[in-house]
Amino acid sequence: MNHIVLLPGDGIGPEVVEQAVFVMQQCGQQFGMTFAFEEALFGGCAIDAAGEPLPKETLELCQKADAVLLGAVGGPKWDVGPKERRPETGLLALRKHLGLYANLRPAIAYDCLANASSIRPEVLRGTDLLVVRELTGGIYFGDKERRTDDCGRTTAIDTCVYAEDEIERIAHQAFLIARGRRKHVTSVDKANVLETSRLWREVVTRVSLSYRDVTLEHMLVDNCAMQLLRRPTHFDVVLTENMFGDILSDEAAMLTGSIGLLASASLGDGAFGLYEPVHGSAPDIAGQGIANPIATILSVAMMFRLTFRRDDAADAIERAVQDVLRSGARTADLGVDRSQALSTADMTTRIIAALRN
Ligand code: NAD
Repeated sequence: MNHIVLLPGDGIGPEVVEQAVFVMQQCGQQFGMTFAFEEALFGGCAIDAAGEPLPKETLELCQKADAVLLGAVGGPKWDVGPKERRPETGLLALRKHLGLYANLRPAIAYDCLANASSIRPEVLRGTDLLVVRELTGGIYFGDKERRTDDCGRTTAIDTCVYAEDEIERIAHQAFLIARGRRKHVTSVDKANVLETSRLWREVVTRVSLSYRDVTLEHMLVDNCAMQLLRRPTHFDVVLTENMFGDILSDEAAMLTGSIGLLASASLGDGAFGLYEPVHGSAPDIAGQGIANPIATILSVAMMFRLTFRRDDAADAIERAVQDVLRSGARTADLGVDRSQALSTADMTTRIIAALRN
């Protein structure tokens, strides 16, 4: 029995998680997998119901689970108020408590969606990259964050901190993953300016000596932002720190055509993982039944592969999604007219039908 905690969250989160559960149930029947689902409050809805974004009971459930599937959290309603009562604070705390330091975000440009991207099809063709983002360090977790007021002049301070062992463990993950891919790691930093980046570069270079079959290149983050658009096929594994990874992976999302397609996994040292679409709660389309469920469905494929070691079920989901996209099925975010676009539920129905075949 595979124990999965569902954290639907806010906005379109519950809409896409519901669809992903249908896909899991179909895979259960087809591949003889059994699941026990438990749902818990997390994010803005947890603030409303329990006064905090990550209630103790939710964290305890996640700590006992084999895997967590998260929708998305946040929205304008919770953008005001103290930091402890923000949905994003709950997300950072959840990742930290669960020891999830490696965030994997694949970006694949499907030929059949070449027209949905703002980049020229001949530049995109063959793009298949994976951003490996460090998740528990850097400026998001600086301990000296504060504001000072000097005679009416307000100053804000954030600190960026990285320890050697934090860089080492994420670098090992990136090199190991690269070994199963095209054996090329691009480590992204800002070593010409930041001390944390200089340490990053030193440690990654040292770790690379244990993986001589993998090619390592270093790239400054500003150059990487440019090269991702200029020649995305150059990249295989992009290894980077927390904030650069956040930004570059959203940029990579646009290579694929829509953020509604991008899955992610957050891992620690064991098989446990937290899986979630890269997108947020999309308050602008929430409640309309038009969100693209594919990012969440592909997150389930990552869960099956990385936590449950079921490549058969993961491959089947990925194939079904590609077949459906190749057949021309599109949700509204994929550049079709609203009148021709499939709803969230109809897109899932097509994917389940493709799975059956
Ligand atoms: P967003 O990803 O929610 O939306 C950006 C744009 O993409 C919107 O136009 C939205 O309609 C569209 N979009 C996103 N997902 C889609 C999908 N599945 N199908 C179709 N269209 C989709 O980013 P945002 O608007 O910057 O943030 C909204 C809220 O989400 C904020 O409160 C933010 O803090 C939060 N957020 C949460 C997470 C998370 O839970 N991991 C990640 C990013 C943002």
